[in-house]
Amino acid sequence: MRLRLVTGNAHKLQEFGSILRGLDCRLPLEELDVGSVVECGTTYYQNAYRKARSGLLSVLTAGSDDCIVFADDSGLELPLFGNMPGVHSARFRYAGLSERTALAAFLSEHCVSSTPARFVCWIVAFLPRSRRCLACSGAVAGTVTPESRGSQGFGYDPLFTPNGYSLTFGEMDAGLKDHISHRAQAVEALWCSLQGTMPLRP
Ligand code: IMP
Repeated sequence: MRLRLVTGNAHKLQEFGSILRGLDCRLPLEELDVGSVVECGTTYYQNAYRKARSGLLSVLTAGSDDCIVFADDSGLELPLFGNMPGVHSARFRYAGLSERTALAAFLSEHCVSSTPARFVCWIVAFLPRSRRCLACSGAVAGTVTPESRGSQGFGYDPLFTPNGYSLTFGEMDAGLKDHISHRAQAVEALWCSLQGTMPLRP
């Protein structure tokens, strides 16, 4: 039995590995490359479902169903700005810039020095052998500033400071981010559900 993560994002693969090790999960984790899946959903759940389902079809076609196939979709939400960029986080553009630099420019131009924010993550997992599908989510609240701090992590990490901490995700040791992040919370929920669902063996 192995875990197969549908992603093309090396940072996510690394984070999932670290989070699962922290939960003492002994199942091997592998990347499952299914090419690009169009993220046209209006919710994280829909996009995670589409990605995981592409992975499911791929393993069923290959006849290798002794695995758990899963995918996540995640984003950063600013409640005072209608929860943007939200589900569109990976595709957020502003003033010819993309993602982090676009959001920093947006905040600067709107004279925002700090605003509440949260990272959200949804995971959908398929268990082909037992014909089950699980969905779990996690969120972490904090603040976002236009100033980038730190070079760890990816995406919006250098702009985001979780509540109760003075460091941004970009400045934190990866082990700490992987303990408190939206992704960590969603993985923990998934791991609890899996353990209640089936006997897990490496
Ligand atoms: P996804 O691959 O569609 O889930 O895209 C998620 C996008 O949201 C990424 O490209 C990042 O911009 C942002 N994002 C999600 N999770 C994180 C995180 O843990 N740190 C920083 N940015 C993140």
